[in-house]
Amino acid sequence: MNKPDETPPAGAGDRSLRFLFEQADIRGETVHLDDAYRDILAIHQYAPGVSRLLGEFLAASVLLGTTLKFEGKLILQARSEGEIPLLMVESNSALEIRAIARGAEQATSERFDRLLANGQLAITIDPEQGQRYQGIVPLVEDSLAHSLDAYFRHSEQLGTRLWLAADGERASGLLLQNLPAQLVPDSEQRNRQWEHACALADTVQEEELLGLDTGNLLYRLYHEEPVRLFDPAPVAFRCSCSRERTRNALASLQPAEVSDLLEELGCITMDCEFCNQQYRFTREDMAEVLGEEKSKILH
Ligand SMILES: [Zn+2]
Repeated sequence: MNKPDETPPAGAGDRSLRFLFEQADIRGETVHLDDAYRDILAIHQYAPGVSRLLGEFLAASVLLGTTLKFEGKLILQARSEGEIPLLMVESNSALEIRAIARGAEQATSERFDRLLANGQLAITIDPEQGQRYQGIVPLVEDSLAHSLDAYFRHSEQLGTRLWLAADGERASGLLLQNLPAQLVPDSEQRNRQWEHACALADTVQEEELLGLDTGNLLYRLYHEEPVRLFDPAPVAFRCSCSRERTRNALASLQPAEVSDLLEELGCITMDCEFCNQQYRFTREDMAEVLGEEKSKILH
């Protein structure tokens, strides 16, 4: 590809950008997270190792989300016996992200295999219409990217590889995906092209992934190949919680239970774990919900 004409202004923000190899059936995607990542970290007090890992998960969720061909959500949920019992990241088709590491207050390690020891990652794809799909990724490699690589290598899906980096301030990632044969029907040539693209991406340094914008990163890796870049799409931190959803969750409890809680506490407060938003419900707020429950029972 050609050398980029101009460097976008520093801090061009949170974005994801698609690219295509013009002479190979390979697509790619990059993601850069700045404010969105820092806003998520600002809500919690995570140790540096946890913050970095959370950044890699966020970058991975955006990259994997861009491979979906429908509207919906992608959820990465890692459970482990290590220093982080639960790490959860969500992204959606509007490129809104949120994340939490639960029970990681004591975490001090920087090492993937200590933070998520004996870990398992559930990748859930939740389309707005249609069936949920879940894949399980054992977290047995030395990083999230390598664990995902191993998962895709053993699955029936399209060849897919990821490179991820995060430093507590910025999180970035690169994804390559082998597309079904279209430009290049010869399977040997296809394999060669795929291996070559991955071998070059394997030379990327963490600082390059974090510091270079997509044009310069791709020029650094693929200056000998024609690569077409698409327009960047903005990524933002946005929590999907709402007062209505929280009230619906309360409404799913037994009316007597809600009534007892109100009796005991005066009002019910619920905090969103992802964004710390607090929702407060008085007896008056809940009367409607309790009333609806009653009328349903009467019918
Ligand atoms: Zn929230």
